[in-house]
Amino acid sequence: MLWLGASSPRASTPASEPRHRTPPPPQKGYGYTYEIAPVFVLMEEEVLKTLRALVGWSSGDGVFCPGGSISNMYAVNLARYRRYPDCKRRGLRALPPLALFTSEECHYSIKKGAAFLGLGTDSVRVVKADERGKMIPEDLERQISLAEVEGAVPFLVSATSGTTVLGAFDPLEAIADVCQRHGLWMHVDAAWGGSVLLSQTHRHLLDGIQRADSVAWNPHKLLTAGLQCSALLLQDTSNLLKHCHGSQASYLFQQDKFYDVALDTGDKVVQCGRHVDCLKLWLMWKAQGGQGLECRIDQAFTLTRYLVNEMKKREGFELVMEPEFVNVCFWFVPPSLRGKQESPDYSERLAKVAPLLKERMVKEGSMMIGYQPHGTKGNFFRMVVANPALTRADMDFLLNELERLGQDL
Ligand SMILES: *Cc1c(COP(=O)(O)O)cnc(C)c1O
Repeated sequence: MLWLGASSPRASTPASEPRHRTPPPPQKGYGYTYEIAPVFVLMEEEVLKTLRALVGWSSGDGVFCPGGSISNMYAVNLARYRRYPDCKRRGLRALPPLALFTSEECHYSIKKGAAFLGLGTDSVRVVKADERGKMIPEDLERQISLAEVEGAVPFLVSATSGTTVLGAFDPLEAIADVCQRHGLWMHVDAAWGGSVLLSQTHRHLLDGIQRADSVAWNPHKLLTAGLQCSALLLQDTSNLLKHCHGSQASYLFQQDKFYDVALDTGDKVVQCGRHVDCLKLWLMWKAQGGQGLECRIDQAFTLTRYLVNEMKKREGFELVMEPEFVNVCFWFVPPSLRGKQESPDYSERLAKVAPLLKERMVKEGSMMIGYQPHGTKGNFFRMVVANPALTRADMDFLLNELERLGQDL
């Protein structure tokens, strides 16, 4: 039930009525202890276990975090703690200069995390990606050697499954080999692409993910669970999360309770109260079934293929690359620029098209598609085909609408 707020008639209850008649505030958080939210504690464990099974782990650990950025930060903190447990007590004084590795296509939260955790953004070593946006394992090797020569200690590699702009999947097997050779924590940022694990047809894109130490996976993205719903999954069975983040507050985590205090999972996280993020995924899974969710993923891939094929039939659309995932990156080439690829200012003029069309579509209120510059490439559109309600008719509309909005350019 919904409690009414302060402006409700109940708030003006006569002073003579006992105070306890006033409704309690809504319970927004839970999670520190089993006694506060027994069902949700067990539900979180159950959902995490199911996600881990999809990664390929029969045991492990995990938590729901407030978003993929935070899940990534947890992974970095855990990797650092595993290598230097003393840093929990002594902080940065316990550490030599550290180095972590991720590709130039990684999500910006890796750098934010490095700053937030006191490592500094300079400790993030950027590994080259190939023309399809995948991390180059040979360059990873090179960057590790370089960092060592410079006196830094490598401790973590963050691979990406489903990069934010191009939708690329890093070669996880080859990256796992490198991590194994150098004894590095392997994190997979699968915030965007993790949900592909639900699809028997497409899960090969994440082959090797079972070799990771940690995986960040956002059901609030491709699976469209309500914000926020992001899981950090760990292969670890040594209670690393709790050792790394626990602080044993004696008023919550009493050790002399009548039940198994291992169920008091709240000390694994850096929050106190938390939203019940697992509930959204649990309900969705119950409603759709594993097959229903798999169907959604497969449909997104199929609809992406349809959009790409339709683009190829039309004159004004140029793909940045053949998509591997559901990110369709393309330029709309307006009539005045068609066939002018050789002119010296072509790229410059083409780069001005997407912002202008974006302005027009927003002001019309007809649709919204993201655009961005990328590397040496000027602004291009990035259509992400994720919403399960999208149809072929929507794809046709998108193409027609771009042609209509850009016909005078
Ligand atoms: C979106 C995204 C994130 C960040 O997730 P938030 O939940 O928005 O914090 C991290 N990594 C990748 C690859 C993403 O696409």
